[in-house]
Amino acid sequence: MCGIFGIDGTADAANLTYLGLYALQHRGQESTGIVSWDGRQLHLERGMGHVSDVFKEEVMARLPGSRALGHTRYSTAGSSVVANAQPIVVKTSMGPVGIVHNVNLTNPAEIRERLEQDGSIFQTTSDTEVILHLMARKPRPDIVESFMLALEEVRGAYSLLLNTDTCLIAARDPHGFRPLVLGDLDGFPCFASESCAFDLLGARAVRELEPGEVIVSRNGRLESFHLPKAPPARCIFEHVYFARPDSRVFGDPVSQSRLKMGARLAREAPAAADIVVPVPDSGLFAAMGYSRESGLPLEFGLVRNHYVGRTFIEPKQSIRNFGVKIKLNPVRDLLEGKRVVLVDDSIVRGTTSRKIVRMIREGGAAEVHLRISAPPTQWPCHYGIDTPTREELIAAHHSIEEIRQYIEADSLAYLSLEGMLASVSGPAGSYCTACWTGDYPVPNGDRRQAELFPIRAE
Ligand code: AMP
Repeated sequence: MCGIFGIDGTADAANLTYLGLYALQHRGQESTGIVSWDGRQLHLERGMGHVSDVFKEEVMARLPGSRALGHTRYSTAGSSVVANAQPIVVKTSMGPVGIVHNVNLTNPAEIRERLEQDGSIFQTTSDTEVILHLMARKPRPDIVESFMLALEEVRGAYSLLLNTDTCLIAARDPHGFRPLVLGDLDGFPCFASESCAFDLLGARAVRELEPGEVIVSRNGRLESFHLPKAPPARCIFEHVYFARPDSRVFGDPVSQSRLKMGARLAREAPAAADIVVPVPDSGLFAAMGYSRESGLPLEFGLVRNHYVGRTFIEPKQSIRNFGVKIKLNPVRDLLEGKRVVLVDDSIVRGTTSRKIVRMIREGGAAEVHLRISAPPTQWPCHYGIDTPTREELIAAHHSIEEIRQYIEADSLAYLSLEGMLASVSGPAGSYCTACWTGDYPVPNGDRRQAELFPIRAE
């Protein structure tokens, strides 16, 4: 998963891209980069860390031009090194190309092998480079045509932006796994993973790209092309967890879908309790929905420190629940003696949830009833969400009662699959639900076999 942003035709393109990326920081914190076109050449700046760490004033000064695009990386495929930071810039026989993606291809190994046997030399382990090599193999007078031919060979989930010497190109995969939105800033086209990026810039969200749509911004005009059709598979986890609640994704406001998930959860899994407490920030809107539907008051019984960096120095002396304490702290005055419904969006390995339940109890709660606003996560994502292997997913090998015991909650319940799908407006079959059902819309070449692993108690 990653955040991408691009804009064409306006002076200050890199600064606007920087702001767009700033609003998309939640989609990836590992590395970031911008590539701008100044009418003569592409300029590239990238580095490890957050947008505000990498783009200092002197760095921005090295990104002139009226067409820019950028990226915030969240590592799923490929290792966490600066060589894998995006954008990637290459010289092709069709001119220079800068590319950013939010991609997880399901057949990169297969294509790499074929291209390497044919003499291609890869510089990174990132999937984006595969697309560039495919383009280089099939040069066309119009680079858009070469790009479309490359996309016809790849499978998986992607949203892409390309910066070239003649145009800016945006593409969304034929299944529409990831969101990609077209915006308008005073007549200049812009593209973003989520509409929240446009709000910061004062741009208008025009529409989402259709699945399989390629939009080209060239000489002040927009042209639209289409890749061959495929069954829709929009990632519903964007609504559950990933996207910002102030964005609209796949036509629905994320805030509303999360409220509905929470309300539905309250109907499906009521609890005899006194207060509803969200796990910040992931459980906030679902908890609000649960509270409204159940009539139980919403209390902010956990406070989050928003200034946690990427790493922290662990004390030599062991501190109970240290990792979670860095980020969250219970509010004793709200929790003391209360029966708490604790709401979060998912349990992955169960380790964090167990610590949070303990924390709520240590904060004085009499009972802790954990409610999860999605079904049990049982299968890894092959399309960009960083889930661990199936062996590590607690719900893959344990019953809900076993998970309840492990996380030490008084009760535990998940939202049903139907309940989750009823919380968004599209037809149920148009979403990818593989993490809960194992029903993968695009087969993955590198899929691992499931094995049974016991839960490790701490
Ligand atoms: P755990 O109990 O260790 O499985 O962690 C659960 C927490 O991880 C919940 O608060 C979720 O919001 C959060 N979470 C779920 N999916 C992801 C993801 N793909 N990346 C990062 N955090 C996630």
